[in-house]
Amino acid sequence: MEKTELKGSCLCGKVHYTVTAELMKFYFCHCEQCRKITGSSFASNILAKPADVIWTSGEEYVKRFDYPNRSFTKIFCTECGSGLPFLNVSETTLFIPAGSLDCDPGVRPDKNIFWGDKSPWYEAGIDAPRCDGFP
Ligand SMILES: [Zn+2]
Ligand SMILES: [Zn+2]
Repeated sequence: MEKTELKGSCLCGKVHYTVTAELMKFYFCHCEQCRKITGSSFASNILAKPADVIWTSGEEYVKRFDYPNRSFTKIFCTECGSGLPFLNVSETTLFIPAGSLDCDPGVRPDKNIFWGDKSPWYEAGIDAPRCDGFP
């Protein structure tokens, strides 16, 4: 399979990365852990075959959190909290938070997973009026 080079960064701009990986899936995950850790209704993760993430700047700001109760990880910038790519604990999958990318990955979401865990307000939000900027 073809590999794709992706570049991304955190909000504050301290951390930049490049990763070249074979992209497999693109999931919106509505599980409780993803809602907590993003502070939002779902996590948008591109799943790829394991590959090295090259931290082109700010590696000293990169922190890993492994949730003890379940195989669940987040890597984030210690300055601004933005999510960054990580290899899962079993080292089978590289998770790339799609919102951290500075490019269009080309792939599009495949599935909404842990749909049964979704927030009670998610679907109402999809149907809400759309405004450019604050109304
Ligand atoms: Zn940052
Ligand atoms: Zn999840």
